[in-house]
Amino acid sequence: MKALISIDYTNDFVADNGALTTGSVGQHIESEIVKVTQSFIKDNHFVVFAIDAHDPSDSYHPENKLFPPHNLIGTSGQQLFGRLDSLYQKHKNSNHLYWINKRHYSAFCGTDLDLRLRERHISEIHLTGVCTDICILHTAVDAYNLGYNIVIHQNAVASFDPVGHQWALNHFKNTLGATIV
Ligand code: ZN
Repeated sequence: MKALISIDYTNDFVADNGALTTGSVGQHIESEIVKVTQSFIKDNHFVVFAIDAHDPSDSYHPENKLFPPHNLIGTSGQQLFGRLDSLYQKHKNSNHLYWINKRHYSAFCGTDLDLRLRERHISEIHLTGVCTDICILHTAVDAYNLGYNIVIHQNAVASFDPVGHQWALNHFKNTLGATIV
């Protein structure tokens, strides 16, 4: 069984006025991320939106020293970007879709994602979203350590850092044994 983990494709990470935006490189993958997500929904696969979620009063969070405030819980910045948001809104009441507010880079860190996947006997996870070399990378490393097979949709991931993006794609393939499609 397989599942799609859709990571951080939100207004703050993708829109022109996003707080921590990837800008045009993020916007460029919109059609592909929507296409991949639609195909998983159509085939009734489990689709998880694992989305950065910050609380401005969370003074202990290590990201406070690294980044400006972003993806604040309940704000438009935390909503999905563009046509991915439309797709999510249309199908969000399906029990095949699941939203996770994540506090750290990895979708597995401090969340019930592993339990949700295991109870569905899912052994293969497909990753899309941003950023290739941050949240996708940390999620892929955790997935590898938990024994999942990993598939990366290379035209549905992006980063503001082209060197980091390419490094991460190589790392997924050569070190985590991921399939790049
Ligand atoms: Zn964050």
